[in-house]
Amino acid sequence: MELIGPDHERYDELRRPAHPQYAGIRPHVIARCESTGDVVEALSYARSNNLPLTPRGGGHCFAGRSSTTGVMLDLSTLSAISVRDTVTTIGAGARLAGVYRELHRHGLTIPGGCGPTVGIAGLTLGGGLGLLGRRYGLTCDRLLAATVVLADGTIVTCDAERDSDLFWALRGAGGGQFGVVTSLTFAAVPSPQATLFVITWPRARAAEVIAAWQGWAPDAPDDITASLEVTADGVKVFGAALGRFDPGPLGDGEIALRDDLSWPDLKRTLSEGEPDDRVIHSRSEFFRAPLPRDAVADLVRGDCELHFTPMGGAYNRVPGDATAFAHRGERFLLEHVGPERDAVRRSWALAHRFASGRVYQNFPDPELTDWATAYHGENFDRLSGIKQKYDPDGVFHFPQALGGAR
Ligand SMILES: Cc1cc2nc3c(=O)[nH]c(=O)nc-3n(C[C@H](O)[C@H](O)[C@H](O)COP(=O)(O)OP(=O)(O)OC[C@H]3O[C@@H](n4cnc5c(N)ncnc54)[C@H](O)[C@@H]3O)c2cc1C
Repeated sequence: MELIGPDHERYDELRRPAHPQYAGIRPHVIARCESTGDVVEALSYARSNNLPLTPRGGGHCFAGRSSTTGVMLDLSTLSAISVRDTVTTIGAGARLAGVYRELHRHGLTIPGGCGPTVGIAGLTLGGGLGLLGRRYGLTCDRLLAATVVLADGTIVTCDAERDSDLFWALRGAGGGQFGVVTSLTFAAVPSPQATLFVITWPRARAAEVIAAWQGWAPDAPDDITASLEVTADGVKVFGAALGRFDPGPLGDGEIALRDDLSWPDLKRTLSEGEPDDRVIHSRSEFFRAPLPRDAVADLVRGDCELHFTPMGGAYNRVPGDATAFAHRGERFLLEHVGPERDAVRRSWALAHRFASGRVYQNFPDPELTDWATAYHGENFDRLSGIKQKYDPDGVFHFPQALGGAR
């Protein structure tokens, strides 16, 4: 393990999170961990110096939870990927683009998000939505086992038989709560040949496109994942279809198709335009029913970008208590995104009364009043018990963490 303090030339580069609003948080020290043993050592260092600690995967947490003034565990070099048949073991510091590229060399992939620099650990521990999710479920639904360093330094490998309660909790409760995960083993799926589609309309058509999308995308065949974005530039429905693409009721826009891309390239193409250095705010919720026409009209008059992600399909064929991810009956997720915090709040409030009250734990929202129900639903009590068992002293904590104040 290497300890990197503020005087080190790489300190600023390594501590920088994806979101600029957390760039001012300066760790006492960064512990660079290349092995599970290094993580044990870093934990012991933090505990004996009475410093808070937090693991850092890809650094994309919307609430800045992988930034700390204590010990930041940098896992970026713990990123090896091995493949045996369809079983793949991935180091917890790996980022998505590297994972998709390496697995594709073996004809494989895992369902997951597009953001190329998002970390596999943060994504999986909070669920993991992506283009193959309606077909294969969440990223965490493909998890077979995980190796974890617990708060007391014990190393456990958990799966359906060993420490099965921990394994249950790691599948969707949200990162940084039970220990430091050092590797994740998945059942991979075939890397598909797919069609990328982008359908566009002028902004003036936003309300009618949203209405048509709401009635179609969450119920579309599993092989189609169609997201919707309303921005200042216009309206866009985009995603991937495994096999032939049928735009359903959305065929009256301008349609662009590509079927010549490998799966990693298709995902990379869709994530172009990742956030830059601007501070962007967002709030989101899940919905179980379409938004009424008047609410849609109010939303499109607002100043925020609206990002709709379809749920349904395989996401919802897993019982809500089979894993820690409790949101198994939702139709879609709506994010309100923009540079003005108040505009985001106003937009969120317009839609809120039609929402299910559930919030995706990988899009954490510090302003929630009942975060326990919003993130965990009926799984909260069981999760609280598991937290007490594996981290009784609350070594892994942050606002809205299990084991903390409700
Ligand atoms: C540009 C962008 C695109 C995104 N796209 C998608 C998407 O398509 N689908 C989707 O579902 N989500 C998406 N997200 C949300 C993303 O899933 C979450 O932000 C996720 O938590 C990021 O994980 P990370 O490792 O990059 O972040 P980090 O900030 O490093 O970690 C997130 C949390 O997990 C903890 N953690 C990290 N590593 C470990 C570990 N090894 N052991 C234990 N805890 C750990 C951290 O302490 C923190 O609490 C996106 C986010 C961004 C910013």
